[in-house]
Amino acid sequence: MGDTVDVLVAGGGIAGLAFAAALRRAAPMARVAVADPSFAAPAEGRRTLRAVAVAAGSCRFLDALGAWEAVAGAAQPMVEMVITDSRDSDAPRPVFLDFDGEAEPDEPFAHMVFQDDLRASLLAAARDAGVELRPGRVTGFAREGAAALSADVGGATARARLLVAADGGRSRLREAAGIGTVGWDYPQSGIVATLAHEIPHDGRATQHFLPGGPLAILPMRAADGSERRFSLVWSAPHAEAARLVALPPEAFVAELEERIGYGYGALTLEDRPAAYPLRLTLPRGLVAERFALLGDAARTIHPLAGQGLNLGLRDAAALAERVAEPLGLGLDPADPEALAGYERARRFDAVLMAGATDGLNRLFSNDSVPARALRDFGMGLVDRVPALKRFFIRDASGLSGATPERFRR
Ligand SMILES: Cc1cc2nc3c(=O)[nH]c(=O)nc-3n(C[C@H](O)[C@H](O)[C@H](O)COP(=O)(O)OP(=O)(O)OC[C@H]3O[C@@H](n4cnc5c(N)ncnc54)[C@H](O)[C@@H]3O)c2cc1C
Repeated sequence: MGDTVDVLVAGGGIAGLAFAAALRRAAPMARVAVADPSFAAPAEGRRTLRAVAVAAGSCRFLDALGAWEAVAGAAQPMVEMVITDSRDSDAPRPVFLDFDGEAEPDEPFAHMVFQDDLRASLLAAARDAGVELRPGRVTGFAREGAAALSADVGGATARARLLVAADGGRSRLREAAGIGTVGWDYPQSGIVATLAHEIPHDGRATQHFLPGGPLAILPMRAADGSERRFSLVWSAPHAEAARLVALPPEAFVAELEERIGYGYGALTLEDRPAAYPLRLTLPRGLVAERFALLGDAARTIHPLAGQGLNLGLRDAAALAERVAEPLGLGLDPADPEALAGYERARRFDAVLMAGATDGLNRLFSNDSVPARALRDFGMGLVDRVPALKRFFIRDASGLSGATPERFRR
């Protein structure tokens, strides 16, 4: 069929690259291409300090793709999570829930890594696996007879048997495929920033549930290898977030210290705080004819549990496994049964996580007396019942979800 690839992935973010690398590993004969406008411009000079929590299950998947080793050295193991629930004026903040432990012996339940490092490592893994990288944006597509579709990639035409849209939360291709969404904007923005501090964090993550929204302190490794850097994800009402990010660095740090106390010693901002509007988006379906959604294109959730990317990686493993089956038999990668199997496998996980993060945000982002009593009861219960705690650790580590066997270490 001339220059037709089996699968064209629109979007070379972490989800798209992980899927493409996984598919080539599972079906080495398949032609897999990824298109992204960012492939045209070298990444040097544009590096950011944006960080993500990679759950243990995701680490296993990345390891199976050969993409973990390159980031493992600088990754910060997360070995404890402390959760507090209090008013802005409470100091010190009472600890409500304290998780420590490992997903499995010698396996922390999550690691913190820089997004840019992980993406660079996945790009190398995709290249090594024989994925074709095409600089350019996929601006539209049309079905071509029964067997293929053609897509416009930066002005050139590419033909593919399956188009996978991994083009992020505001996916244009999802719209073009006619897949509607349900969802709503949160009244909050997520402020992200990176800070250096004096007193080591010892791998402890802290989530402060404040009336305006959750504030997470996620432990990172500093450039000198010490445990003296953290990544901040602070959800606050839009106007408050806009005010905070516009403050001079010392004033921002002072406002932060008012919320988190002085337990880290002196704090220094390492980058400029930025605020992102937060939105819950759930598409009405994950697949259409010769088309599938992946990563943030397949949903966006509240960042309070740090799970968005992990869901995207679970999508990548599940879709690669489904599509590799017909490809391995020389059949159509867009086999409707395979795509329906992907949708069945992933829908529940996405809805569950969207519901859980939305529910937690609603339950905690207010100061009403009944809400406070309810969450006090719930958190106290989890803290006192070891089996429940173990369940939550396995859940946070992504090991209770189903990563296909072939992508486990
Ligand atoms: C404040 C905040 C904190 C977060 N913290 C965490 C965390 O701790 N842990 C976690 O797991 N997740 C976290 N997330 C979520 C996580 O960042 C996202 O889930 C993840 O980056 C999505 O990856 P993706 O590959 O699906 O999409 P993206 O990273 O958005 O990548 C999309 C790619 O598609 C390309 N593209 C766009 N349009 C086209 C097109 N038409 N054709 C071709 N290419 C196109 C873009 O150039 C881009 O490279 C957080 C999110 C926010 C907002």
